[in-house]
Parts: sequence; C-alpha cells; structure tokens
Amino acid sequence: MKNKKLRLGLPRALFYYYYAPWWETFWQALGVEVVVSPPTNKEIMDLGVSLAVAEACLPVKIYYGHTAWLAGQVDVLFVPRLVSVEKKSFICPKLMGLPDMLRAAVKPCPPIIDTVINCVRQPQEGLAAAVEDMAGRVGFRGREVQSAREAAQERYLCWLERQQMGRANGATDLTSASAAGAAVSETGKPGLIDSAPAQAGSLKVGLVGHAYLIHDRFLSMDIPAKVKKMGGEITLPENLPPDQIALACRQLPKRLFWTLGQKIMGSVLSLIEQDSIAGIIHLTAFGCGPDSLVGDLAERYARRRGTPFLLLTIDEHTGEAGVNTRLEAFMDMLPRRYSA
Ligand code: SF4
Repeated sequence: MKNKKLRLGLPRALFYYYYAPWWETFWQALGVEVVVSPPTNKEIMDLGVSLAVAEACLPVKIYYGHTAWLAGQVDVLFVPRLVSVEKKSFICPKLMGLPDMLRAAVKPCPPIIDTVINCVRQPQEGLAAAVEDMAGRVGFRGREVQSAREAAQERYLCWLERQQMGRANGATDLTSASAAGAAVSETGKPGLIDSAPAQAGSLKVGLVGHAYLIHDRFLSMDIPAKVKKMGGEITLPENLPPDQIALACRQLPKRLFWTLGQKIMGSVLSLIEQDSIAGIIHLTAFGCGPDSLVGDLAERYARRRGTPFLLLTIDEHTGEAGVNTRLEAFMDMLPRRYSA
C-alpha cells in the first residue's frame, strides 16, 4: 500500500558514503520521508560494538550502531544486500549478510528492505530489477519509479562530477550535490571534508581507503583536516577519474575481484605515477580481510616506486594521540624525501 508518510531509515555508514545522493533522491522523489542517522559519535560506536560480533570490522560495527539508533524512529529500514555493483566484481562478503545479522541483533527491528543488488553479469538489468524490487516492497510501481530513478541518477552523476572537480583540495562534499542530503539529516550535519583551498607550497599527499572510513570524521579522527593542517594537500580516490583508476589496475598481473579493492589499488597505482605526489597514506580498518591483501600489495608497489607510504589501521580502541604522532612523523619526513 502506498504511504506518503512512510518514514524510511538510512544508516549513515558503509555504502551510504558511496550512494547517499542516489538513495536519498530516489526515496524522496517517491514521497517517502527519509531519516538519516546522525554522524557517528561515541554513543553510536559503543552501541554498535555492543551489538555486533567481535570479529566484525569496525565499519560493520558502526553500521549496527546507526541501525540501532534508527530502529525506534522509522517504519522501515533500507539495508540493500550488496553483492555486486559492476560487472565481474564483488562487494565484500560481510555486506551480503548484513540484513540478516541486523535482524538477529537489533531488537526490536523494523522491517528491512533488503533488496539484492547484483550486477555481476548484467549491470543494467541487475540494477533495474533491484530498483523495481526496492520500490515495490513499499507499494510503488511503474512510471513514478522510473521518474524517481532518473532523478536519482542525475543527482548522483552530478555529485560524482563534483567529487572529481574537488581534486585540487580533496573536497568531497557528500551531500551538497544532494540538496536532499542536508534536508533529511535531521540530527547532525552532513559529513563534509574541509574544502578550503590548500596553502601555497603545500605537499601533495594521496589519502586512500574506503569512503566510509575517510569521510566518517569520527572514525577517521578527521585525518584529512589534520593532514591539511600539517601542510598537506590531499587527493582522494573520489577525486580521480574512474577510467584512470581502471587503467592503472591493468598493470596488475591478476585482476582484483573486489570493487573497493580495485578502487584503492588503482588509486595508489595512479598516484605513484604522479611526480607531484609526495607520499601516500592508506587508512584501513582492523579486521578488514580485503584490505589486508590490497594494503600489502599497494605498499609494495609504492615502495618499489620510491613513494613514501603510511599505513594507518584503526579500530574502536585506537587512540588519537598515537595517530597524530605517526601522521606528524610522516608529514615531517616528506619534505626531506621529496626534495632529495
Ligand atoms: S571491505 Fe573491509 S572494512 Fe569494508 S566491510 Fe568488508 S571487511 Fe569491513
């Protein structure tokens, strides 16, 4: 049954940082009230850690916290079961079982729209089927779904373009391309990375990692702002053209089949080819299976090319002082290496 007052919860974690403009625009175009959980804070993290299994990586634990925060406030939660978002590549297996794990852990848990998104064989058909399914679960069909999808796609592409244009200063305004984003974030501000121009003479640094780590200011301890304060000018994976990342990945002897792994690896391979890049920081989560392989591979390629590489692994116990010390040491060393 169509319900214009349906309140749909969108956890501000994991793939929210990749698809927020699309999802928010789509549901709002259908007349649904979208409620986004607030930016991550200690309360949300502690909630997630208390509900999730100990083996889960930190971003997954955080997702539990956001879901639990929303649970009592919405009619339905949107937690798509992400299998694949592009041809011949997969999303981390931990995300496939997320809806089931949340139902078991979050009590009481509202109904979950857990549409399977699987584009591994036929991306267009897979996406179309997913869109029909997610809208159909709450009674929307036909032309209005098509219109909402078109609006979402337009907003999403515009947002991607803006991210790439932010290359010079690492700006990746998550929600400004989505007017909806700011409006639906009922409690808390949209997650923005400082987009003020870098100072003259600043060192160019690549900051790679999952968007849900880098753009979550609480999780990342605002590393982008810290680097900038220390005189760095950041380039993020989101600032690089996807074609450039894909091309860089072709030099690998074997194709990586994780979408996010390809993005990180391709970004590193692309950045180390640029003489203007003084060093690379890889932000990763403790307990991340794909990153344990991709991170090691990325570091080997960077070292082979002579590019300084700093691996920062975070979990719920990571102290900010230790991160600051390592960052400062890395940033202090860069001018000497860069000018040598
Ligand atoms: S890719 Fe890594 S950080 Fe992301 S959900 Fe999977 S295990 Fe967690």
